[in-house]
Amino acid sequence: MYNLVLFGPPGSGKGTQSEKIVEHCGLVHLSTGNLLREEIKNKTPLGMEAKSFIDKGHLVPDEVVIGMVDSYFDAHKDAKGFLFDGFPRTLAQAKALDKLMALKKTAIAQVLMLDVDQEELIKRLVHRGKTSGRSDDADENIQRKRQEVYRSETLPVADYYTKEKKLANLDGMGSIDEIFGRICSYIDKKTKK
Ligand code: AMP
Repeated sequence: MYNLVLFGPPGSGKGTQSEKIVEHCGLVHLSTGNLLREEIKNKTPLGMEAKSFIDKGHLVPDEVVIGMVDSYFDAHKDAKGFLFDGFPRTLAQAKALDKLMALKKTAIAQVLMLDVDQEELIKRLVHRGKTSGRSDDADENIQRKRQEVYRSETLPVADYYTKEKKLANLDGMGSIDEIFGRICSYIDKKTKK
């Protein structure tokens, strides 16, 4: 199996690039944000619980997210690999993911961090706020909270993967195709070794 994590702050382009990567590499896309939005749309108890956190820009509790990821694995037993998008977002999630991967006798191969400067992030988020239809995108205060949560709770996950020598920083500035080109050449170089 080949398992990748796409990492970066809200607005760094993870969702957009993930869709292109899974097509290019034949991986299964696991976006916890998409799974949570689906639960909310279906008005499930999990969805209703998650909504109260998402609408404030907070993270959904680890045990809820980890349980959801575990079920997603069970539903995709034949996957040749996963692309994790928006997960793991806390150290507890990163450790739980390592355990789940070990149970499947596999591991995270690489973590790609999309580097985007602050001004560009804000520009993209303002645009997304007008077009995505997501309630957590439209409100500037929630956006600010999400950036704050990223710095305090999610950035330590990057250090965790740096220590494991799995983190690679990629330039996330430029057009969608330019960024995708950089991601592909990195993946192709790593998988041809
Ligand atoms: P995203 O679409 O990845 O930006 O996620 C939207 C929102 O869903 C986040 O702001 C969180 O409230 C919640 N969420 C998504 N993924 C996670 C996760 N791995 N851990 C906790 N909360 C999450």
